[in-house]
Amino acid sequence: MEEKLVARRLAIVPTTNCSLKCRLCCDFLNGPVKRRDIPLEDVCRDIDACFALFDRVEWLQFVGGEVFVYRDFPRLLDYVRKYRERFDRLIIETNGTVFPNEDGQAAILAYGGDVTIMVSDYGKLSRARERFIAFSEQNGVDLRLKKYYGEDQYYDGWIDNNNPHDLKEPGDVLEVNAKNCPQALCRNMHCFNGKLHRCSNSCFMLEMGLFPPKDGDFVDLRDASKSREEKREIIREFYTRARRSCRYCRFKYEPILPRHPAAEQLQEDVI
Ligand code: SF4
Ligand code: SF4
Repeated sequence: MEEKLVARRLAIVPTTNCSLKCRLCCDFLNGPVKRRDIPLEDVCRDIDACFALFDRVEWLQFVGGEVFVYRDFPRLLDYVRKYRERFDRLIIETNGTVFPNEDGQAAILAYGGDVTIMVSDYGKLSRARERFIAFSEQNGVDLRLKKYYGEDQYYDGWIDNNNPHDLKEPGDVLEVNAKNCPQALCRNMHCFNGKLHRCSNSCFMLEMGLFPPKDGDFVDLRDASKSREEKREIIREFYTRARRSCRYCRFKYEPILPRHPAAEQLQEDVI
């Protein structure tokens, strides 16, 4: 019998547009990665392709950029309801700056008790936080606030993974570090504009043009020349060895890296 392929975390990125301009943006949206919306029909096509590959998804996540600035987000939430039996829980990640419009609220409520909104709470920047809290209390929607301001920040604050460059780790050191990387351990795959990656850094470092695409580092969801089984094999291998991006990425050292205050903003005209 065919071995089941389960996605523990499947993050869909419909947009790299964002309402904030964080100096240490983990998605490199502070310059190197272009801010843009992916057309709704392309995002839906990629989601179809993912569900054709996976037998089950534990957490189906929507992340940005900022998802609530994506105009078609309500329609996207409506669209994925067709896979409701194929994933365990819907997770929406937001920076708490923009509260969804009526369509967005209705699309969230249609998931009943099966949706969690995770707000990265950047204090004053997260202007819509109180509205999210009220919405959650009034409608019984699961809401998690991750405190990223003042003392005792979530994960003690952010790390600095900016200006990635070849860290020149010897091959065996790289392999061990990449294997133990917290991102690899949590198996948080990222789907952006037709490509499925093992993690967000693999996704956005390729997007910024740090290195040429390499076969097997990601699944090209729109490539009809590869069979379903070939694509599933690439996914099964995702966490078995370091990828090109791991050579450039300091996230492997996350547990010991210095921490910085979250969400420090760049000047308006920098990006
Ligand atoms: S909120 Fe900040 S860190 Fe998050 S995507 Fe936007 S700019 Fe990047
Ligand atoms: S080292 Fe970076 S690129 Fe490699 S798995 Fe970890 S987060 Fe992803």
